[in-house]
Amino acid sequence: MKIIRQKKDLKNFIKSKNTISFVPTMGGLHKGHEQLIKQAKNKKQTLVVSIFVNPKQFNSKKDFSSYPRNLKKDINLLNKLKVDCLYYPNYKDIFNFKTKNKIYLHPFSKKLCGKFRPGHFEGVLNVVNRFLEIIKPKFLYLGKKDFQQLILIKKHILNKQIDTTIVPCETIRFKKFLPFSSRNIHLNNNEINSAIKIFKLIKNEKYEIKKNKIKNISLNKLKHQIYDLGIKKIEYIDAINIKKLKIAKKYNENFKIFCAFYINKVRLIDNI
Ligand code: AMP
Repeated sequence: MKIIRQKKDLKNFIKSKNTISFVPTMGGLHKGHEQLIKQAKNKKQTLVVSIFVNPKQFNSKKDFSSYPRNLKKDINLLNKLKVDCLYYPNYKDIFNFKTKNKIYLHPFSKKLCGKFRPGHFEGVLNVVNRFLEIIKPKFLYLGKKDFQQLILIKKHILNKQIDTTIVPCETIRFKKFLPFSSRNIHLNNNEINSAIKIFKLIKNEKYEIKKNKIKNISLNKLKHQIYDLGIKKIEYIDAINIKKLKIAKKYNENFKIFCAFYINKVRLIDNI
């Protein structure tokens, strides 16, 4: 695997290749990332993976500095998965050029995580837009775990008529319930068990809404059940119609339950 730190070298590497598949990550690689990479490898195009912990998408310096980083372990995994190229830029390499496109922020960016993390999605799109201009990938692999992010990147690509196709990938979970996340290493065993219980409750609630043909969805009981497990802070838990991107009212809408909550100091998000 080629490890490239500068975009001029990356552009050189890409020049001779036909089609590029791209998997952007912030490192601290786990089975979720692995799934994206394996899916991308199936396409048999040249595969570029990036590792860049993007300071612009963090809301606090502390969260940024404590974000899990383990470059050596990540490189070993990427080598094992036969990735063609790791792009591991520094801050300057990403931000020292003027982009052709401005970012397009769909109003859905103000909902869910956007309500609680001001500037987060601007930060994400700023970097993704730069990656798209440097790499010009044919295929971009994104996890449904960050569903809101996936939708917003899709809206940006559509709005700017960028020639990149998003390949959405299923969420990979620990013991069938807890989504793998780089931040999970900050959880102890008890906290992991609590998180698993919460995701089970959410999955069950969705099942009950559909089974009982609920016409006026309310998630208040679910919230109380989660607080009863000792959780101190739920940021949001909402049923969202994923086509209309609005609160879902009825069981037969195409909806997912989106949530963000804290287990002690660790913020977890999911959609089921
Ligand atoms: P991150 O390194 O957290 O920025 O994630 C990089 C990519 O991996 C994003 O497209 C995420 O949605 C995706 N991802 C993160 N966790 C998972 C997971 N548990 N299952 C599938 N994809 C994931």
